[in-house]
Amino acid sequence: MLLFGDYHTHTKYSRNHHGKSTIEQNVKVAVQKGLKEIGITEHGFDHIFFGVRRKNIQKMRAEIERLGKIYPIKIYLGIEANLISSEGDIDLIEEEQTWFDYVIMGYHTFGKPKNFKEYKNFFRVNAKAYKKNKYTPEIIQANTDAYIKAVQKNRINIISHLGSKMKVDPVQIAKVCKRTGTLIELNARRLCFDEKETQEMVKLGTTFILDSDAHICKNVGECNRGLNWVVKQNIPLEQVANLDKTPTFVWRKDE
Ligand SMILES: [Zn+2]
Ligand SMILES: [Zn+2]
Repeated sequence: MLLFGDYHTHTKYSRNHHGKSTIEQNVKVAVQKGLKEIGITEHGFDHIFFGVRRKNIQKMRAEIERLGKIYPIKIYLGIEANLISSEGDIDLIEEEQTWFDYVIMGYHTFGKPKNFKEYKNFFRVNAKAYKKNKYTPEIIQANTDAYIKAVQKNRINIISHLGSKMKVDPVQIAKVCKRTGTLIELNARRLCFDEKETQEMVKLGTTFILDSDAHICKNVGECNRGLNWVVKQNIPLEQVANLDKTPTFVWRKDE
């Protein structure tokens, strides 16, 4: 069982020293650990504190091309976009989605809400529910619907840390992801599915992906939490996109 690549890593391009290492440092560690591929995926533009700047994307692409000629590894440029509304909007317009080899999408408390209404009815409601650990079925369904709409509306290849800071029904979301070809991440820092949910997702034919979500180079390729879950839950290897093989990043319209 070989971890082929790590497709969710941050670098110094995530603002405010959020990522600690350079692209080259992440790449070097990936090579040392025997990975065949690595993805550089900074926080989306509208993350209030950590979002990557649009003007840096070209620079990052050039750096990745330069490193690709030096190191024996395939390097992707992705992004970790933010969910910014209950209607499934993300902080990456359609044209910008084409700047990247693939798009990760996740909910972050400090993503910038699309407007004041979304701040009040979506972000603030979830912050309160999270703090008190009191989610009503209505909140969970609204969150689930937001993710489903996001996957249907946008080219989303991977959903990161699903269920973190925003409780959802992952099984409903996984059903739509199966149709759109979206991978569901087993994140090394935050893994929020229980056994029952995982088993139902496996039965649906969900494809998972193991990622470190490293914010410092030494954590690149460290995907043990997800790997242990794969073993414990007996997830078939063909349903893990980056074990022994390269993942395919596709996205189909949900029709
Ligand atoms: Zn994240
Ligand atoms: Zn991340």
